[in-house]
Amino acid sequence: MRFLRILRVLGGVFLASGVLRAQAPTKSGAVTVIRAGALIDGKSATPRRDQAIVVRGNRIESVGDTASAKVPDGARVVDLSRATVLPGLIDTHTHIFLQGEDPAEGGYDAQLLKQGIAFRAVRASLAARRALEQGFTTIRDVETEGAGYGDVGIRQAIEGGYIPGPRMLVVTRAISTTGGYPLEGYAPEVVVPKGAQIVDGPVEARKAVREQLDHGADWIKIYVTHRSWVDKQGNLVSQPTFTLEEIKAIVDEAHGWGKKVACHAYNGVGLHRGLDGGCDSIEHGLELDDAAIAQMVKQGTWLVPTMNVYYDHWAPEGTSQGILDRKRAAVHGPSLQKAVKAGVKIAFGTDVGGFSWSDPIAREFSRMVEFGMTPMAAIQAATSKAAELLSMEGDVGVVAPGGYADIVAVAGDPLKDVRTLEAVGFVMKDGKVYRDELK
Ligand SMILES: [Zn+2]
Repeated sequence: MRFLRILRVLGGVFLASGVLRAQAPTKSGAVTVIRAGALIDGKSATPRRDQAIVVRGNRIESVGDTASAKVPDGARVVDLSRATVLPGLIDTHTHIFLQGEDPAEGGYDAQLLKQGIAFRAVRASLAARRALEQGFTTIRDVETEGAGYGDVGIRQAIEGGYIPGPRMLVVTRAISTTGGYPLEGYAPEVVVPKGAQIVDGPVEARKAVREQLDHGADWIKIYVTHRSWVDKQGNLVSQPTFTLEEIKAIVDEAHGWGKKVACHAYNGVGLHRGLDGGCDSIEHGLELDDAAIAQMVKQGTWLVPTMNVYYDHWAPEGTSQGILDRKRAAVHGPSLQKAVKAGVKIAFGTDVGGFSWSDPIAREFSRMVEFGMTPMAAIQAATSKAAELLSMEGDVGVVAPGGYADIVAVAGDPLKDVRTLEAVGFVMKDGKVYRDELK
């Protein structure tokens, strides 16, 4: 996140929508049959017509032609025969503890300096609900921005059924170096909190990973670049943070626990150190040079491009921030295009929270298609590919026997117009229906 001053256009609008109704607990063996007019299953290259999806409890039991499907006695039937059914969507880059950094609310700094943890947790729980309401049934939330281990608590509340929300993988505090993360710009005599855990040297770096994993992190997130600017020649330049030795210590420790490392990286030296150090995913990757792309292909490193967030709310033209905002967007598209062409593995991620939770998360699909992905490839990036990044293949991101019953539907054909995904009208997660407006 944490680079955009963004207006929260429709803050709180979902509060009033009443879309997410309280759910009666599902009996473990309860059966639901979903009739799908078209099914994009998350893995297959083409959709299938007229499919019946049998859900038992929280898992998908079978998928087959409606004509030959047997509806078990007592099964509830959900008729989506005029809709396109897909796996629950996956956003692999969210920040439920950010709320669009609205300048009217004091922007980023006020969240750390003036808002207590209980207040932030309430808003985070509403953000989680908002993700689910939009059809995102799994998210990887990539740091709490000063809210400590709050994401572990939200994940626990969702898993316990106390609040509605997506399946969550959390990174807790994230890690950067001295001079590598806000809050910044305060008098040196004043001790201010930092949005990430600050470490220096491989020993501290490894210890931070151990602490975070010990306290419930599913992933480790590090910032391998921090400040960026446009130099006199018009190039985007990014300040590297960690040394290669520090990154290697982090990756080695995380991998030893069977966990992966997400690396926030724009371009340049820091990005290359992240790749040399064995990062599992590059977040943003605004400007991937040819060597970086070749290395990502070779190492199987994922790219989570987060395109759309860089197109919003630019600072005025001619200001240093305005020049930077425009430069970031200008290099990002061609970079994604090159990565797509070269076969870099791409997972859907948006940085939502950096922009308002009231904006459609699925706007990202249009940018992915604009810069070289087919609609089907963009959908798979948010389903089976994202599941692969998260080591959840077969469980999520696919409508197939054995998978969790995380299923969404839209009224139109997203292969003709990916923008239809901005209006998900049916949401089932774990076999429970949270939204049902496609009658
Ligand atoms: Zn982010």
